[in-house]
Amino acid sequence: MYVFTHLCVGAFLGAAWPNPVGAAVAGFASHGLLDAVPHHDYQTPIPAIIDAGFSISALWVLRKMGATSRLTLNPVLIGGLLAALPDLEVGISFTLDKLGQGHKLPLIYPSHSGLSPHRRLPLPQGFWLQIAIMATSILGIYWLGA
Ligand SMILES: [Zn+2]
Repeated sequence: MYVFTHLCVGAFLGAAWPNPVGAAVAGFASHGLLDAVPHHDYQTPIPAIIDAGFSISALWVLRKMGATSRLTLNPVLIGGLLAALPDLEVGISFTLDKLGQGHKLPLIYPSHSGLSPHRRLPLPQGFWLQIAIMATSILGIYWLGA
C-alpha cells in the first residue's frame, strides 16, 4: 500500500487507542494487515518520492497538531509513524539497488519478506480503495476528536 495509506490508518489507531505503547503496536501491526488487503503499489520512483514527501509532511502536521511536541505524548503521531515505518526498508533497499552498490538489503517486515500476504489489485480499483481507506481514517480521527 502507499505509505500515506499506512500513515492514515496508523494515526486513526492512535486516535482510537490513545496510549503511546498501544498506538505503536497497533500502528506497526496494521502495516502487515493492510498489505494483505488487495491494493495497488506504484512501480516507479517518482510516485514513491511524492508519497514519501507527502507522508513526511503529514507527520510534521500531526506533530504540530499534538497537544505537546513530545513524541511520546502524541499517540496519533506514534501510530502514524509506526504504521509507515516498515516501508522505510523498501525505500532503502530500492535506493541501494538502483545505486548499484551491490547491496541487497534483505526485507524483514513479514509482508515485505513474503512471510505474510501482500496482495495486488490493479488500477483503478487498487487506487480508489486506498483513497477510501485514507478518507475513512481521516474522518475517523476527526470523529474521535483527536
Ligand atoms: Zn509495506
